[in-house]
Amino acid sequence: MSWGKLLQPDLVLGDTILGLTPEILDRHQLRGLVLDVDDTLVPLNVIELPEALTTRIAELRQQAQIWLVSNNISESRIGAIAESLEVPYITFAVKPFRRNLRKAVAAMNLPPERVAMVGDRLFTDVLAGNRLGMFTILVEPTIAPGEVARHSKMRAFEVWFSQTLGASLTQQK
Ligand SMILES: [Mg+2]
Repeated sequence: MSWGKLLQPDLVLGDTILGLTPEILDRHQLRGLVLDVDDTLVPLNVIELPEALTTRIAELRQQAQIWLVSNNISESRIGAIAESLEVPYITFAVKPFRRNLRKAVAAMNLPPERVAMVGDRLFTDVLAGNRLGMFTILVEPTIAPGEVARHSKMRAFEVWFSQTLGASLTQQK
């Protein structure tokens, strides 16, 4: 598979994770979700989840098994977030390597194409999910105002690089 294809999300949400609805899961026949944590669920230094997010995750959980798979090494941070959502989690996942995503998908007992990898980053989340044959969803980051510069520079580079390789990153709805 070409690099352009490996960096191509199956769905470019064009919204934060709050835009992920049960209807979207239905439309793509998704029965499992692997969620990135930092800048996808909450900004890097935030641990409390907004109520709208907790409600949405609970809604999605009626339809899909949910795991958190994070590259963050902080067991206490990711564990606390997972506990408040009542979902299993893996830290220090080393995405784009597949090993820990494969673990989560295996625990769900679902074929990878029925499980979506949901994240804000092309080089870790989307690349890892595509390498495993999962459905991949690129979301807009949830970032703290002071962090905008850090994140947007990195993201702009990833978007530019992926588009150079042939990925199409305009929003699909
Ligand atoms: Mg992230």
